[in-house]
Amino acid sequence: MHTYDKLFIGGQWVAPAGSNVIDVISPHSEEPVGRVPEATNADVDAAVAAARNAFDRGPWPRMAPQERIAVVERFKDIYATHLADMAALITEEMGSPLWFSELAQSPAPWMQINSFLQIASTYEWEETRAGMLGEQVIVRREPIGVVGVIPPWNVPQFTIMSKLAPALIAGCTLVIKPAPETPLDAFVMAELLVEAGVPEGVVSIVPGGRELGEYIVRHPGIDKISFTGSTAAGRKIGAICGEQLKRFSLELGGKSAAIICDDIDLDSVMDELKFAALMNNGQACIAQTRILASRGRYADVVDSLATMVGDLKVGDPADKENYIGPLVAKRQQERVEKYIALGQEEGARVVVGGSGRPSGLDKGWYVQPTVFADVSNDMRIAQEEIFGPVLAVIPYDDEEDAIRIANDSEYGLAGSVWTNDAAKGLDIARRVRAGTIAVNRYLMDFFAPFGGFKASGLGRGFGREGLEEYLAAKTMIPAF
Ligand code: NAD
Repeated sequence: MHTYDKLFIGGQWVAPAGSNVIDVISPHSEEPVGRVPEATNADVDAAVAAARNAFDRGPWPRMAPQERIAVVERFKDIYATHLADMAALITEEMGSPLWFSELAQSPAPWMQINSFLQIASTYEWEETRAGMLGEQVIVRREPIGVVGVIPPWNVPQFTIMSKLAPALIAGCTLVIKPAPETPLDAFVMAELLVEAGVPEGVVSIVPGGRELGEYIVRHPGIDKISFTGSTAAGRKIGAICGEQLKRFSLELGGKSAAIICDDIDLDSVMDELKFAALMNNGQACIAQTRILASRGRYADVVDSLATMVGDLKVGDPADKENYIGPLVAKRQQERVEKYIALGQEEGARVVVGGSGRPSGLDKGWYVQPTVFADVSNDMRIAQEEIFGPVLAVIPYDDEEDAIRIANDSEYGLAGSVWTNDAAKGLDIARRVRAGTIAVNRYLMDFFAPFGGFKASGLGRGFGREGLEEYLAAKTMIPAF
């Protein structure tokens, strides 16, 4: 049991203003595994005051970037010694299969810190340009201010780090509100920030639900909101920020298409598609959940998927033999079950899985990994984000039709093309309206921008563009 009775506010462990607690429940055993204080508005006020003071008067934004980089380097090295315990903790908290936690839940945040450090080491914080009257204009990048960070529960450290690392390097101060399902990993991270010597006031961690999130979004002491989560919440946050002219960036949902071309061997596709479509129990914004297959090969693709998904081991996420674990919460299990029923009502055909518990599991928030065939792209199971191990196989007539279907979505976060012809793969990738699209696998790259077209978000994380989300450009025109 991981128990905390204090909150991390302004770089110190302090008693919470209220008495409510958040119990973290294992999605596998349905037993409590941790408890933290639930932050209140008063705690947020204290966190914002500390962040405001650290930003307006403290050393952090005024240091040379190299000095901040040195502190974040120390944080990176300390983080590296906690990869295994962080991975195990995230599995305990939210049911991510341990193989995935060890591959991504803690190593990917470390890689994010590392890539932002490398990008920052050669970044031009001040550049000189030729101005319109022949004078030399200075363009300077300054930290954007106090940042409110609101991450989801599915990749909790990963989403925090994609914001924390660039914001720290930029010279911002932060108030982070972890999702109520996953506060524990954020508390461990706070201890590592202290060890690294991040100055007081720079980071606070205030766990709570959506009301607390909205309080942070509306807070006048915050200059920018950096949000990752559902499109529905993103719309609300964007509306509030728009009214206040507060800066914001949104990384939202997805319903990504995997376009399988006729020239590729299906066995090799299935090996990679298993990960691309079903990582983290299907609870991934980038999951390739619409599988597009030509009519000529439709039956073969459905058969291959049915075999691949039917063979997946489901069970205790701490057992690395299990590819699929439980969903994060009972409400998520019910939501996915509702979509499995809905697909059948809409006329899609279950070829593997379906409703009901996987055999041998009498507790835990499990669902059966499910493949739907005979799906048309206008069905709700093809348009809405399910966020579980549920795949929809959609037939296409030809390449043009495949691209049309891929783009016929309110989302545009990610996508993939599967072909033996590398040039054709890139040609199709150019025509799909999605933020990151890969050929013959799915991967993001931490040195390149990541984010959504359409309802998948605004702004870009990762890469130089991800650092610049936390910087504001200032032009200085010297005397001439
Ligand atoms: P969610 O939107 O319900 O919650 C996300 C976070 O926002 C939580 O911390 C929650 O407490 C808070 N929140 C919710 N409503 C809020 C509001 N109105 N104002 C302020 N804060 C609010 O999403 P979730 O169920 O936790 O996460 C799953 C969603 O996140 C999926 O849609 C998934 O696609 C998306 N996601 C996107 C990315 C990406 O990079 N694009 C990455 C991971 C997850």
